Amino acid sequence: TVVVVGSINVDLTVSASPLPRPGETVSGTQFSTLLGGKGANQAVAAARAGARTLMVGAVGRDPFGAVALDALRADGVDVGWVEEVDGSTGVAHIRVDSRTGENSIVIVPEANGAVTAERVRAALTAAAPTSPVVLLQLETPLEVTVATASACADLGLRLSLDPAPATPLPEEIWAGVWLACPNETEAEVLTGTRVTDVRSAERAARWFLERGVHQVVITRGGRGTVVVGPSGTTEIPAFGVTPVDTTAAGDTFAGALGAAVAAGLPWPVALRRAAAAGALATTKPGASPSIPTAAEVDTFLKG
Ligand code: ADP
Repeated sequence: TVVVVGSINVDLTVSASPLPRPGETVSGTQFSTLLGGKGANQAVAAARAGARTLMVGAVGRDPFGAVALDALRADGVDVGWVEEVDGSTGVAHIRVDSRTGENSIVIVPEANGAVTAERVRAALTAAAPTSPVVLLQLETPLEVTVATASACADLGLRLSLDPAPATPLPEEIWAGVWLACPNETEAEVLTGTRVTDVRSAERAARWFLERGVHQVVITRGGRGTVVVGPSGTTEIPAFGVTPVDTTAAGDTFAGALGAAVAAGLPWPVALRRAAAAGALATTKPGASPSIPTAAEVDTFLKG
């Protein structure tokens, strides 16, 4: 089982070119309403990778809450621990320049701010007998991050933390983190080491290892992945693809890796599947629509 503690948003995306300047109104060409949020993306990625997946989070009692819950259910994600709270569901308001592909995003956390330490503890305690891998990001309140790390330490659960969006964190959380999977920017914000190659990635990784993290996986987009843990440093080269939209590559990687670890796959095999899933996610536009299934990853790895 994979348990995801994290954010659930509805992504409201419009396309136009050029995008309006402040005070200006333009007519756009496309609009979509899709499930998003790092937590939900990772849950969809884990479920499509074949894991039994349980989401812990919150949505509002509004039409977007139903959109989000329906989309999670459609991918087979168990939403039994998604609380419906008064007010609005989290939204990401995304504007894409249809010519350059550049985007600007405003995220309003709304219901994601209502996830509490108590709920997370209760959910993890209930799920503990299945020895889940737990996936966490940083789009829910700090008390949720702290509670998830301490509950995972108490219950002996393997916690994978994707520290995004990057923000300084209390030292105490690292003892509860089994796997940290920052990208280069996040690794720099947390460790102060600028990651530009394998050596500097290794230096940044050491910062996490010194704080009790067991495995560190630094994702470097099209430049591959550096993995530092008990068996030393390995580099997973990026698969050769033609990226069209890198949104959710990191979430896909984290979700697929969590599913592979939960399935008991050998570590190198798990990393290779996650890298393949991340690469595939860049070949299609959008967040959740671009997340591949296990069958798509199989076909890609055979080809
Ligand atoms: P984030 O979205 O968090 O910044 P990355 O961009 O590092 O994360 O992507 C996560 C993983 O997805 C990478 O480690 C890599 O395996 C894969 N990936 C991302 N971008 C590409 C790319 N352009 N080509 C091949 N693989 C990619």
